[in-house]
Amino acid sequence: MEFRSMYCPKCKHDVKVTLTPAPLHVGHANVDEGAEVVCLDYGPQCTGSLCSVFGLPRVVMGVRLARSGLRPERLERVQAVCDGCHRVGFLEIVDDTHAHCTDCGTINTWTLIRLDGEEWVAVTGQRAIAELS
Ligand SMILES: [Zn+2]
Repeated sequence: MEFRSMYCPKCKHDVKVTLTPAPLHVGHANVDEGAEVVCLDYGPQCTGSLCSVFGLPRVVMGVRLARSGLRPERLERVQAVCDGCHRVGFLEIVDDTHAHCTDCGTINTWTLIRLDGEEWVAVTGQRAIAELS
């Protein structure tokens, strides 16, 4: 896999980017077909609705990084029930409303609700694939 540096006007320094095969083309002979750019420095510093390097919706870049599995340490996790596989597990937080299930790949919408007392619980909602495709 080839990595390149590109200047990010938001971060004000170079960020590392790469190309990954699109999900539908995983295992396909021609990996360049439908390849997607992924910023490996996606994180909490990415604010606003668009990625400053590629002009993509910010959440799309976050989902791409999560699905690539290249930098799992950059994504915080929340324990919740996945709406796709209905298992309790740790979802990778893409942004404040989207989280990625590492078991089945579903992008869940999620939120934290406060119960009586001090406890916060993550609640997942309907799958958010449609808005990201
Ligand atoms: Zn799942």
